[in-house]
Amino acid sequence: PFDEAVDGKLGSVYTRLTETLLARGDWERKAALRNKATGEMKLPSTYSVLLGTAQGKGVPWGRLGYGIWPPPLVNYNRGFDILTRKGKMAATLETARVDCAGEWPAGMPAELTCGAAVRSTDKWELAPQNFVFHPSKGDSNPLSALRSAYAACAAAAEASGMGKAGSRWILKPSEGAKGEGIFIETELEAIEEHLRKQEEKAGAGEAVSSWVVQKYIHNPLLLKAGNRKFDMRCWILVDAKFNIHLYKHGVLRVAAASYNADDIKDIHSHLTNHCIATTHAEYGKYEATNELFYAAFDQELIERYPELAAQARGTPANGSVLESVVLPQVRRLVVQSMLAARERLASDGEYYQPFQLYGYDFLVDAELRVWLCEINASPAVADELLPDLVKALVRTAIDPICPPCVELMGAEASAQYDAEASAAAER
Ligand code: ADP
Ligand code: MG
Ligand code: MG
Ligand code: MG
Repeated sequence: PFDEAVDGKLGSVYTRLTETLLARGDWERKAALRNKATGEMKLPSTYSVLLGTAQGKGVPWGRLGYGIWPPPLVNYNRGFDILTRKGKMAATLETARVDCAGEWPAGMPAELTCGAAVRSTDKWELAPQNFVFHPSKGDSNPLSALRSAYAACAAAAEASGMGKAGSRWILKPSEGAKGEGIFIETELEAIEEHLRKQEEKAGAGEAVSSWVVQKYIHNPLLLKAGNRKFDMRCWILVDAKFNIHLYKHGVLRVAAASYNADDIKDIHSHLTNHCIATTHAEYGKYEATNELFYAAFDQELIERYPELAAQARGTPANGSVLESVVLPQVRRLVVQSMLAARERLASDGEYYQPFQLYGYDFLVDAELRVWLCEINASPAVADELLPDLVKALVRTAIDPICPPCVELMGAEASAQYDAEASAAAER
């Protein structure tokens, strides 16, 4: 049996996953009903998977799986927001930094240090430096730390001849999404003014988010076509055994406007969210949907960095710059952030088994250094990739716990299913 929580929408991934399982013939769907008066959720007496709706809403954590054996799967880690709220992620990454004490985590392969430049003492940095402000907390906010970091950053940019363009900060509401409510600022006064406004709002009793003030990556790698900035979306599955799986495909979301360092208010050039690109007149000019997939990106990297491509020849990366330089950094950032969150995501002793698909956003700078930008809880998946990603998700997260039932599926359908699912989940 198989069950769907009631609030809101399942989202494209779990809608597709539902269809995929039902089409197999060995799954059945059961409804969870909410009592409108009491808010109480009535769950079926038995079920194998509970699907919570977007952002984990509608998961009845308290009673989940009680009295059912084996413990049912659920598609969210309880407490996942320590990764997916921007302010909380900053604290989680600080834990990661302290845990690894400036060293590579044990067991990580040495070739992670490869790349365009030698990674030096700052190699423990996972995300751009950031400070978290809680508008209602006033004095306990890290304002003086931000001021010192601002001064250090401005001085370094001055010394390197970049001037103001090398020293910028981006302000993001902790709970925001889709690039909404984000400001890029150069002047400390403007940053402080913005934070003061939030404090005033909080003082007036308005509900306000906490804010992250993050170092702006001032030297993004720009794609040749149109000189445009991008961010890289990768999908990470944490399964019920806390194995971490990086999906084999990823997508670059490319800005619609060319990069303009002089105009930080131009969101079409600085913010690479897909929904922002779609509102620009030149949306679709270079790629039909302003999305670029790994193969095309790697091709461009190989052309632009022939010496790195040469180094990667005859290695397991097989001449791929994406594989030899970019993805090792992605894997390291994923592993370190997940390990830092692990204790808080753990479900030992619970009556359920969680798995979750996370959407990691990365920025790549002009030195081919990869930065963790943010992590999303209910990630959308590029249309082209959705069918296979869902097959791989079922194969990796669900099938090992709830194996396909040959009797119900029929021998032939079952064999075909196995072949397709393993191909989709193959690395
Ligand atoms: P959201 O949840 O709104 O997508 P993000 O943190 O992903 O929030 O920020 C939105 C976009 O802003 C990113 O896709 C990226 O293009 C840009 N951005 C975010 N943080 C930085 C940064 N530190 N440096 C440069 N660009 C950034
Ligand atoms: Mg952050
Ligand atoms: Mg987001
Ligand atoms: Mg984002």
